[in-house]
Amino acid sequence: RLVRVCMGGGCLSSGSSSIVSALKTALSSRGLLLDVEVMECGCMGPCSGGPLLALDEDQTLYRGISPKDVEKIVERHILGGEPVEEFLWKGQDGSAQATEASIDFFKGQDKIVLRNCGKIPPTSIEDYISVDGFFGIAKVLSGMKPEEVIEVVEDAGLRGRGGAGFPTAMKWKLACRAVGETKYILCNADEGDPGAFMDRSVLEGDPFSVIEGMLIGAFVIGAKEGFVYVRAEYPLAVERLQAAIDSAKERGLLGENILGSGFDFNLEIRMGSGAFVCGEETALIESIEGRRGEPRPRPPFPAQKGLWGAPTVLNNVETYANIPAILLHGSDWYASRGTEESKGTKVFALAGSIQNAGLVEVPIGTSLGELVYDIGGGTKNDRPFKAAQMGGPSGGCIPRQHLNVPLDYKSLQELGAIMGSGGMIVMDEDTCMVDVARFFLEFVQEESCGKCVPCRVGTKRMLEILERICAGEGEQGDIEKLIELGEQIKDTSLCGLGQTAPNPVLSTIRHFREEYEEHIHQKF
Ligand code: SF4
Repeated sequence: RLVRVCMGGGCLSSGSSSIVSALKTALSSRGLLLDVEVMECGCMGPCSGGPLLALDEDQTLYRGISPKDVEKIVERHILGGEPVEEFLWKGQDGSAQATEASIDFFKGQDKIVLRNCGKIPPTSIEDYISVDGFFGIAKVLSGMKPEEVIEVVEDAGLRGRGGAGFPTAMKWKLACRAVGETKYILCNADEGDPGAFMDRSVLEGDPFSVIEGMLIGAFVIGAKEGFVYVRAEYPLAVERLQAAIDSAKERGLLGENILGSGFDFNLEIRMGSGAFVCGEETALIESIEGRRGEPRPRPPFPAQKGLWGAPTVLNNVETYANIPAILLHGSDWYASRGTEESKGTKVFALAGSIQNAGLVEVPIGTSLGELVYDIGGGTKNDRPFKAAQMGGPSGGCIPRQHLNVPLDYKSLQELGAIMGSGGMIVMDEDTCMVDVARFFLEFVQEESCGKCVPCRVGTKRMLEILERICAGEGEQGDIEKLIELGEQIKDTSLCGLGQTAPNPVLSTIRHFREEYEEHIHQKF
């Protein structure tokens, strides 16, 4: 019999370690420690409901429990066979929902990237192998050619999940064709959007999937060395990833002659110090090279000239975690999800004014309304929904009238938002949208590396205007100035940070212009 306790970042912060201790004590005092296995696993998803405990024998999920509740669960449920209703999930109609299959939060989700999160102990290679882990790389190394692997990824329609949505297969193809003895593969785990915790959760919950995805990518482009660039503020992700790397090395799944195929590949972690701009690929490369993390002009693109001048592929955590599943199950299986132009699934971090804050994965094309209401359970205290901020400081706001927008790359872009890496902050009617715009602009202004004038100075000027509007000191013509400056910054900045920095301002002006006008007219 198996009891899983969520040890994701959210549950740990709400006390899941003490749940594990209480559970072991309660089982031990009844002589049950040999009959019942206690598994400490990664993020199960509904973070705001933690600590979470799942009984696998009948798939019951308990939420919001404290150490003193554990006795009751052991006595009544594990020994007595009766679920303890008071700790069960409650549906929107107030009825108890005992199993994952019956809980609204999980219905409508389709877990590919998160397939192992919350199901296995994150750093146990045996458990990863037991759920078909490393079967993808084994299949590749058993005779597939690099171009065949690229074809599978291309047919699957996988696009980079870090923000820009560039087709993964195309990036791999470019690096494959690039001339060079040495090539590198990198993983961008420098997640920095306010409110985002997708990559962190995947690394904390299933680091082997990312390692396997990188192994497959390395084989395809001919890289013998790779780096995962993780922010140092993610100590648990770093710890679990390092443990997984060490374990893979011990088992001969990293290092020389992997699975007897003659393929050599080594993987190391590099820690970033929390500069948002280091999430930009060329700044990330500079940082790994030991220099200040500042973007380089492109071209040349990293696929041709990247780390230490060698052809380099950089994908993010979620992109790599998709790869083993695609190789294992095939491109048709993956491409059967999503929309015509955007295939597969997308992981989102639900935060803000939302009942069920947490980590979710849905087929691309799921509507914003389904995500917020069916899965997220609606806004906190049932306040009317006002907008969802998507894509962090590079993204934009989607207002209430577009709750039915399908979450795909094109539809979001048409509304002035972006898919981004998957951070979604839900806001209710108590939120001031001008203040939201000011918050994000302040963030990018502080994080601007200062290398180019439009971003360094332009965002400062925009921030000054926004601050005076928020202080009730706005002037006639300020909105037009913001739009003009924003467009210029977008057109002339060197890197993605500056090119997208005005988006939250422009998007809130587009959808909530009347709020800006109200602030300005306060003065008159
Ligand atoms: Fe630096 Fe901003 Fe220019 Fe990017 S756009 S290089 S972050 S100053």
